[in-house]
Amino acid sequence: MKKIIILVGIALLISCQPGQESKIKVYAWVSGKRQVSERVMKAQFKDLKKKGVDGILFNGGHDPETYRRIGKIVKQTGMEFHAWIPTLIQPNNPKLDYELYAVNGLGESAFDKPAYIERYKFLCPNHEEVYDFLEDLYGSVADLPEVDGIHLDFIRFPDVILARGLWEKYGLVMDREYPQFDYCYCDNCVSDFKALTGVDIKSVEDPSGIEEWKQFRYDLITNLVKRLGVMVRSKNKQYNAAVFPGPNSVAKKLVRQEWDKWDLDAFFPMNYNDFYLEGPEWIGTMCKESVEALDGKKPVYSGLFICPDPANKANEPDPEGHGLLPEELEPAIRESMQNGAAGICLFTPGRMTKAHWKVFKKAIYKDYTLVKSVQ
Ligand SMILES: [Zn+2]
Repeated sequence: MKKIIILVGIALLISCQPGQESKIKVYAWVSGKRQVSERVMKAQFKDLKKKGVDGILFNGGHDPETYRRIGKIVKQTGMEFHAWIPTLIQPNNPKLDYELYAVNGLGESAFDKPAYIERYKFLCPNHEEVYDFLEDLYGSVADLPEVDGIHLDFIRFPDVILARGLWEKYGLVMDREYPQFDYCYCDNCVSDFKALTGVDIKSVEDPSGIEEWKQFRYDLITNLVKRLGVMVRSKNKQYNAAVFPGPNSVAKKLVRQEWDKWDLDAFFPMNYNDFYLEGPEWIGTMCKESVEALDGKKPVYSGLFICPDPANKANEPDPEGHGLLPEELEPAIRESMQNGAAGICLFTPGRMTKAHWKVFKKAIYKDYTLVKSVQ
């Protein structure tokens, strides 16, 4: 036993040296700031590459030209470049009619009466026009040689139940599904469900008790992912998405994502433990569930939510300002890797403090399979 420990110790020492093959794969979600010059941006991306980031998921609006410009810079640094574009959340757009937005159980449109916050203007996936709009949006970006992949986000319904850590922020007790947060009851969805099952869902007192109604909505999202995937792959691009944790324990229940049925090249579960009032060990539990749900066949990159101001976390009332402290980052990475993740994804590098980067630099060069084998 002693011999094994010594050998492992030596192996760890070797694997801790930057530049070794044992480095874990790291992605980062980055949003664009239009006012930043090309020179400044290049320096920022070079710095991220140097710190150990392998791929950028970049959100820069809908204009393909932005992805061409930024993609070129990112590719020059040697990193992958994926276009991160929200799918079903869409603000006012002359291309989108009012009727295409999702409708809640009270008959209110997400366009003019969105749930929780103003930007929660969700489209209903059950409209051919919504598919056409998204096909055009993602297709025009996937056509660019500078783009390696399409990264979906908000590919879901609005949260019918909010993560526990957000209840106080919105003054809500979400002990069950309430109609004002339950989507979609538009004419298309109601009539299609009736044709499929014979049930008029609007006449049901508690729709949350109808399992087929849940499945119907999982399937609407799954089918949209499938159709867009055919288009993205026809352009020889990678296809992946940011998803809620799980899928069974969180994603299906909160936002109707049955994502283990999605045909993606990679999955990026947002294992944002603070939103669920959980510690870093919960991230490991989530990764295990995700990897098992996918039968280990597709890579899972564990999304980590970073605290931007560690000294003030305890006094910060808004969960958006919470996240992993520097001392929690290594356990979060370890839990992810020891439970089958293929790597991690940072939300966001801009929130990382110097103390975070210091921990990160060591943590990404450890060989976690080796550590696990002797425990
Ligand atoms: Zn609908």
